[in-house]
Amino acid sequence: MKATNVLLSILAILGLLGCPPAPAETIAPASPATSGPVLTTPPAPAVAPTPSGGITAPDLPPMTRTDRGPKNIILMIGDGMGISQISAGMYSNGNHLNLERFPVIGLHKSYSGDNLITDSAAGATAFSAGVKTYNGAIGVDMDTVPVPTILEMAEAAGMPTGLVATSSIVHATPAAFYAHAKYRKNFEEIAADLAHTDIDLFVGGGVQYFERREMDSLNLSDELRRGGSTVASFVDTDVKDLKVDKTKRLAYYTADGEPLPYSQGRQYLVAASKLAVEYLHARDTLDTGFFLMVEGSQIDWGGHANDSDYIISEMLEFDAAIGEVLNFAQRNGETLVIVTADHETGGYAIQNGSAMGRIEGAFTSDYHTADLIPVFAYGPGAERFAGIYENTAIFDKMRLLYGFQ
Ligand SMILES: [Mg+2]
Ligand SMILES: [Zn+2]
Repeated sequence: MKATNVLLSILAILGLLGCPPAPAETIAPASPATSGPVLTTPPAPAVAPTPSGGITAPDLPPMTRTDRGPKNIILMIGDGMGISQISAGMYSNGNHLNLERFPVIGLHKSYSGDNLITDSAAGATAFSAGVKTYNGAIGVDMDTVPVPTILEMAEAAGMPTGLVATSSIVHATPAAFYAHAKYRKNFEEIAADLAHTDIDLFVGGGVQYFERREMDSLNLSDELRRGGSTVASFVDTDVKDLKVDKTKRLAYYTADGEPLPYSQGRQYLVAASKLAVEYLHARDTLDTGFFLMVEGSQIDWGGHANDSDYIISEMLEFDAAIGEVLNFAQRNGETLVIVTADHETGGYAIQNGSAMGRIEGAFTSDYHTADLIPVFAYGPGAERFAGIYENTAIFDKMRLLYGFQ
């Protein structure tokens, strides 16, 4: 533990930071008539150094789940998507978004373990593992100890899992669901973690971190193929032409590094989300349910660039993907869909002089802000997402609803 962390911990314990630790979600003791899931303390993760100096994934026992909650959970993260980003998208789109189809709306507190202003790594780790950690942390706590993620728990329960992003797949948000790294920029270490998980499907950029590595000479795409995955990329196949083969795992690269903005031709999120849902549903032959995380990654990048048009085009692509996922959830009836953001980016506001269909945006920052962040929920268990709570409660609620002990 770093000295600064020790100090911060002491201050936090004394309540001097004004950021009390988040209470974990609890439920009332089950009555004799209804034996519900019980939230227990996760097993202490094992820590062992890897040859690369990285952090190994925690050992998880086989998981079982109850059948009282939703069968499937789809978590959709609009990186940097605050209320203004949503508003600008809506007013630029004929005053309509698919987000209006959600019956339950809540708000979460996005601050991280060491900063009122979170970054995407700490923000995603709060969702994936239920801990407030330091900015830059990927799947590790304040002391860099690896913490089990909801995706790893789903894998341990034998469930199909998937990740779709419009950034590279080793970028902070998706990485926090499968990797354990001290720092978000350790892309090659994070890629190795991905190649060594049992994840069934991923769609995102970052070929270079798998195939042209500096820390070793491994070709992780070859390792994925040897492990039985179909490995495809934007170079040879369009997402729309990918066929669902439920008998094989699927890795699909959308860029060598980071994918382009939507406005420059990267328009795969809707097709990839549809493919991912159909694939995971078909692959769930044991009827265990699946877990999928979909990220609209570049709403955040539009905020960093203080570019209103960039924000709006990314927002509308993400909303279209949300519509596709909601269509599945409505047909399926056993799927919980949660849409939220890790934080707001840009201190974005819609200025006087704007009109319906013509947004004039202004910004107070080229970084993130600490605004409360909306959470939208649809499907079985959605009612649990009303109210105001910590970002870590998203994990607590998902874990509870899956019935992981
Ligand atoms: Mg992100
Ligand atoms: Zn950002």
